[in-house]
Amino acid sequence: MAGADHPFDYSGRVALVTGGTRGIGRALSETLARQGARVFFCGTNRELGGLVAEEINRELPPGTPEAAFLPVDIADFKACSAMVAEINAAAGGIDFLVNNAGITRDNLLLRLKESDWDEVMAVNLKGCFNCSKAVVRGMLKKRYGRIIFLSSVIGLMGNAGQSNYAAAKAGIIGFGRSLARELASRNITSNIIAPGYIQTEMTAALDEKTRAEISGAIPLGRLGTVDDISNAVLFLLSPLADYITGQVLQVDGGMLMA
Ligand code: NAP
Repeated sequence: MAGADHPFDYSGRVALVTGGTRGIGRALSETLARQGARVFFCGTNRELGGLVAEEINRELPPGTPEAAFLPVDIADFKACSAMVAEINAAAGGIDFLVNNAGITRDNLLLRLKESDWDEVMAVNLKGCFNCSKAVVRGMLKKRYGRIIFLSSVIGLMGNAGQSNYAAAKAGIIGFGRSLARELASRNITSNIIAPGYIQTEMTAALDEKTRAEISGAIPLGRLGTVDDISNAVLFLLSPLADYITGQVLQVDGGMLMA
């Protein structure tokens, strides 16, 4: 099980976490479910999604709502609408949307293919639009909602070899802040988390030398863990963050003090 003990009880809340089969999204789905929320998470890998749901549910305290995996590609607008309709029918609305799913297709601009650009935009940026648009109507009716976006410090500072990823992650910040302005009067908050380097499959490809160099450039002296990010999301979903909207919270060990 992920994470330390958490002070919050999310009983009665319904959460949709995109990209919950691995990494940050999986840790968050586990902790939210353990803390009482009814969690729906999506991903494209059906087999893994089913296994993860089984693993999460096996560990849940008796009486806790079971987590459910939905095999959905968030780049597909219609599939996102159908996913949200299915959750609304099963659970009576969504309280928390965590736009977490993301991919990389890294290369220097000269070698970056059109498909590398298009795929990253479709999943990382349009996926946020697809899911947010689908959930917002229900949140407006309820006059309650918490929307979180997973951006990246790369979206703030740029990175050689990641122009497509940086552009999508910067776009998420503009999108998330616009939603904060549009939705605040209905008690719906929209915040953005910008992780630094986190140990997940996304960063597993880094060699030891690069990893050591990165750690050396981080004031707290280490890469982050999935729980470091999941904890920040849990805080923004909690009542302690009711007066916070439109913010970009950097969770990066002090790497980028912008
Ligand atoms: P990860 O371990 O690679 O997991 C990505 C998740 O997204 C998986 O569950 C994957 O599931 C899902 N996903 C990918 N494409 C999808 C699609 N088209 N539709 C639905 N789900 C999809 O990533 P992570 O490191 O946990 O990162 C999570 C988020 O944090 C991402 O947005 C990432 O950009 C951001 N972030 C990560 C870091 C880092 O250092 N790791 C740093 C800054 C920001 P399937 O494979 O089943 O599709």
